[in-house]
Amino acid sequence: MDTVDYIWMNGEYIPWNKAKIHVLSHTLHYGGGAFEGIRFYETEDGKSAIFRLEEHMDRLLFSASTIQMEVPYTKQELVEATLETIRKNNIKSGYIRPIIYFGYGKMGLDPRGAKVDTCIAVWGWGSYLGEDMVKVKTSSYVRIHPKSTETQAKLCGHYVNSIMASLEAHNAGFHEALLLDHKGFVAEGPGENIFAVKDGKLITPESVNILVGITRDSIFEIAKNNNIELIEKKMKLEDLKNADEAFFTGTAAEVTPIKQIDDSIIGNGEIGPVTEKLKNIYTKAIHGALEQYTKWLTYA
Ligand code: PMP
Repeated sequence: MDTVDYIWMNGEYIPWNKAKIHVLSHTLHYGGGAFEGIRFYETEDGKSAIFRLEEHMDRLLFSASTIQMEVPYTKQELVEATLETIRKNNIKSGYIRPIIYFGYGKMGLDPRGAKVDTCIAVWGWGSYLGEDMVKVKTSSYVRIHPKSTETQAKLCGHYVNSIMASLEAHNAGFHEALLLDHKGFVAEGPGENIFAVKDGKLITPESVNILVGITRDSIFEIAKNNNIELIEKKMKLEDLKNADEAFFTGTAAEVTPIKQIDDSIIGNGEIGPVTEKLKNIYTKAIHGALEQYTKWLTYA
C-alpha cells in the first residue's frame, strides 16, 4: 500500500503503523460495520478536491443507521476530520476510507452496547481495475437479495458476496465479475454499477437490487446535460451482451469500459462514443476542470 503518516481514529491522529484494533472487535467477527470509498484528485491549479464528499458521508451515516450504530460524530465533524486528515498527510490525490465499526468489549450478534469506533484513512490509490477496458465474467453467485439486508447500505458484511464473485472471475482469467439479481436480471459488479448503451441510449438497472452509486448518479446528471437519453429498467444479460457499448461506474473504478462479457465481445471491442464522451466529462469534472460540476467538489 501507498502509506501516509497518520490515520484518524476516534478523533486522534495515530501513526499509520499504530492504527490497530483488538482481535475481538465485534465487526471483525460479524461484519456489522459501515464504510465508504471516496476519491480525491489534484486539480489543475494544484489544489486537492474531494469528489462528492457530502453524499458519501450521508451514505455512511445512513449505512450505520441500518444496524443501529450510535455514531458519536456528526456529518460535519466527519467532513472536517476527512479534510484535516488529507492536509495532515500532505497528500494531493488518492482514496479515502472512512469506516465505522463495532469495537471491542462485547460479543454475540446483537451489537447494541458494543463500542462504536470511527476511523478515516487516506492513501494514494491509482486505477482500481488496472486496465483501460475490462473482461467481465457473469458470476455464479447471485447479488444479495434485497430482502436479505438493506441493499442501499454499504456494510462490511455485504462484501463477502463481492469477494466470492471477484475470486471466481479472477480465477477464470477475467478482470471483474458481474452479478445478476435473484430473478436473473443484471444487477451490478462487485464494487461497481453497470450501464449499457443501445442505439445511443443509456440503459442501467433500476435501483432495486443494487447499491445506488454516487458515480452512477453523477453519470445520470452528465447524460442529462448532454442530451443522452437514460432508461432505468430491468436488463437481461442477453441484452447487455448485445449492447453497442457497456461500462462500469464506481468511485474506485470511475468509468471503466467493458470489452467483453463471458464469450461475447461488446460492440467492436473498443471504447464506444457514448462511453468515451461520458468518461471524458467525468474525468474533467473530478479534476475540477468543468465549472458546471465544481459543486461536486470539496477542496481540502
Ligand atoms: N455497487 C457496489 C456493490 C459498490 O461497492 C460500489 C462502490 N461503492 C458501487 C456499486 C458504486 O458506488 P459509488 O459510485 O458510490 O462508488
